[in-house]
Amino acid sequence: MKIAVIPGDGIGPDIVKQAYKVLDRVSEAFNMKFEYQEVDMGGAAIDKYGVPLPDETLDICRKIDAVLLGAVGGEKWDNLPGHLRPEAGLLAIRKGLGVFANLRPAILFPQLKSASTLKEEVLGDGLNIMVVRELTGGIYFGSRGRKDLSYGQEAWDTESYTTHEVERVARVAFEIARKRDKRLVSIDKANVLESSRLWREVVCKVAEEYPDVELSHMYVDNAAMQLVRNPRQFDVIVTTNMFGDILSDEASMLTGSLGMLPSASLGQGKIGLYEPIHGSAPDLAGQDKANPIATILSTAMMLRYSFDREDAAAAVEEAVSRVLDQGFRTQDIMQPGMTLIGTEEMGDRIAAEIK
Ligand code: NAD
Repeated sequence: MKIAVIPGDGIGPDIVKQAYKVLDRVSEAFNMKFEYQEVDMGGAAIDKYGVPLPDETLDICRKIDAVLLGAVGGEKWDNLPGHLRPEAGLLAIRKGLGVFANLRPAILFPQLKSASTLKEEVLGDGLNIMVVRELTGGIYFGSRGRKDLSYGQEAWDTESYTTHEVERVARVAFEIARKRDKRLVSIDKANVLESSRLWREVVCKVAEEYPDVELSHMYVDNAAMQLVRNPRQFDVIVTTNMFGDILSDEASMLTGSLGMLPSASLGQGKIGLYEPIHGSAPDLAGQDKANPIATILSTAMMLRYSFDREDAAAAVEEAVSRVLDQGFRTQDIMQPGMTLIGTEEMGDRIAAEIK
């Protein structure tokens, strides 16, 4: 199994190193063989080649099974023009790989309940919601413009979806729901928007292929409220680009800690881009202080979605849970009475717990 690895900038190399330890241990325990190819992107690529995403990096990533990304960016490159900044590489690689479905699990480990902004009784045994956001269509890519009026100006952006765009992301969401609790909520604004009415019709049509998955619909305003009122009612959510942008941030923050949250962006076939949701945290780079768990959980998503190895993915997630149970914490999730450890030790302990 071939993996392109982009360590990136800031804490990127620190956390990716821990992902290697985990994958090496998975390879022993589950008899899987990984081949890694490290490539440059972001600030590291700007320093070497003058661009945030060299053609060679994209070519290699396109020919490979999965891409693991640490994080990119930092002050050093902040004054470059927009298209040359490290973050431009992120948008370009997502587009270049055609990854149209962004999966962001909001997982609150019961051991970290006090990190959430919600009350303990709302959280119950913890949270595990998967938000599937359409990533390459909708209002962020629709036609837009401005014109002068006799007084002031008018500006517009267009929300538009094709049947094909909705079908393919709906299918990803149904497939994921099938591997989980088999409940899918599609979120739209079909009481007002025509594009949402098409969205709903297409999702209902795709549902006919998945009779084992229970589908329901919710308007986006209600969904925003339900996420904080009773988040445990959700298993998998599928929604448009803009609604997903907003709701996935809301859902992820219910868990309270940036250093714990992974993500996957999927396209046609098995190609996937896996990365933690946090940035390059330059304030922590090279100091053995970053939490590597978001990156380690991103590798679990890779094992599940690109390599179809639920057993290995679950083993990684259980290893994380066991190390938290044993009371070990990096500084960002430190609580009274727990044992403070660094990035390297967290990586070693999680790898050692993979069985
Ligand atoms: P950030 O996510 O890097 O950091 C925000 C805060 O969270 C900081 O206090 C940081 O120390 C902390 N933090 C982040 N990840 C952590 C971890 N794994 N363990 C412990 N603490 C962690 O966001 P920012 O400070 O806004 O951005 C820093 C740089 O990262 C910028 O250049 C930004 O453009 C870039 N960025 C990159 C990505 C990406 O690569 N996907 C995403 C967001 C931001």
